[in-house]
Amino acid sequence: MERYARSRELYERACKVLAGGVSSEFRKFSYPHPLFYTHGTGSHVFDVDGNAYLDFTLSQGPLILGHSPPAVLAAVAAASERGQLFGGQHLAELDLAETIQRLIPCAELLRFCLDGSEAVHTALRLARAHTGRPRFLRFEGHYHGWLDNVAFGLTAADEAALGPRTQPTPQPWTAGLPERVFEEAFVLPWNDLALVEQLLAAHHQQVAAIILEPIMCNSSCIEPRPGYLAGLRQLCDQYGIVLIFDEVITGFRVALGGAQTHYDVTPDLTIFAKAVANGYPLSVLAGKRSVMQLLERGTVIHAGTMNSGVPGVAAAQATLAILERDHVHDRLHALGQRLMAGLRAAARASGHQLLVQGPGPMFHAGFTAASAVSDYRDTFAYNRASNTTFLQGLHDRGIRVIGRGLWYLSAAHTAEEIDFAVDIAHDVLRELPI
Ligand code: PLP
Repeated sequence: MERYARSRELYERACKVLAGGVSSEFRKFSYPHPLFYTHGTGSHVFDVDGNAYLDFTLSQGPLILGHSPPAVLAAVAAASERGQLFGGQHLAELDLAETIQRLIPCAELLRFCLDGSEAVHTALRLARAHTGRPRFLRFEGHYHGWLDNVAFGLTAADEAALGPRTQPTPQPWTAGLPERVFEEAFVLPWNDLALVEQLLAAHHQQVAAIILEPIMCNSSCIEPRPGYLAGLRQLCDQYGIVLIFDEVITGFRVALGGAQTHYDVTPDLTIFAKAVANGYPLSVLAGKRSVMQLLERGTVIHAGTMNSGVPGVAAAQATLAILERDHVHDRLHALGQRLMAGLRAAARASGHQLLVQGPGPMFHAGFTAASAVSDYRDTFAYNRASNTTFLQGLHDRGIRVIGRGLWYLSAAHTAEEIDFAVDIAHDVLRELPI
């Protein structure tokens, strides 16, 4: 395709040196092939062919202030003048930790890491050590990173492969998993408290932790049913299980205090990554002192040469300061709701059944006659071919959305840009076969 010709050339060159031409599995599936970008500014990102995109991917979520926000860049540049990494403590790290402790309900103690996957790994290790129990409970459709003990039970080729609801058959996401890794987790469909009650009644003595995305952002952006999170909290209290909210997406995005303030349910441990540093590598593992004290004592080990590096810390300080000072979440919710309503109206006007759901700062749009999608199994009802054609049509007209239909809003988006995106969506929907 002429429009992406230069990217195509570079991609072919990349395939000779980078495995699969990319540095992360998810980038392989970009339309029409992995593209090469030159720069991003505000709500837009630009590729080597000179195409501009109104960007709703935000680099898979982190860019909550948009691309290259001047205040964040200035903070990173100024801090980097003084050093990059000290192999020791620095004042900015302490200030940032105190800010997060103030903002996040469960953050009695915290540690900085580099990405979400390793923070999840540490959380599960802590939960096992705290309870002396071997397994954790996870849910279909929830993504917790790519490391071994969370690389199964999240997706399946079709609904039948998932097995019965009461006892799913966990599917491996990758070859090369240790033989016994499947014994580390129970897997259940999400949003069904009765299933968790049943499982725990029989097996709670084996369960160290329940881990979940408090909003299932990675599969259709499904919010928890009323009372579901509180029900999990109650069961964890009853059985002495560690409740882990994986807020890698929801954290600092759905509210300044994450999903735990949005739904007013406080977990024992929590993980933040993506939005916390607007695209710089920094993640946070935070939790109640009763669990985190195992790190204080060195009973549980967490380490990392690159942890709390100066640029990431400076970026996070600047990002959180802006989110708080400018009440950015009010804006993200309003813009998101405007876009969601616009897409619904455009679909209605062109005769399509498009289900648009999520809290607003992120949401999902997919083609189905269903009025709600409540768990991963329900997502098989989406017409995936229509979804792909719709998103490709948007992309060819300069609107960039994540391929599975997830839209992210940033503070850099404007109401005019939202209305522009809705107009383009309307054009694409009119051409889309019903
Ligand atoms: N948890 C959730 C909910 C995520 O969405 C992701 C990544 O998308 C991860 C964990 C893993 O984070 P990272 O890619 O930073 O390792």
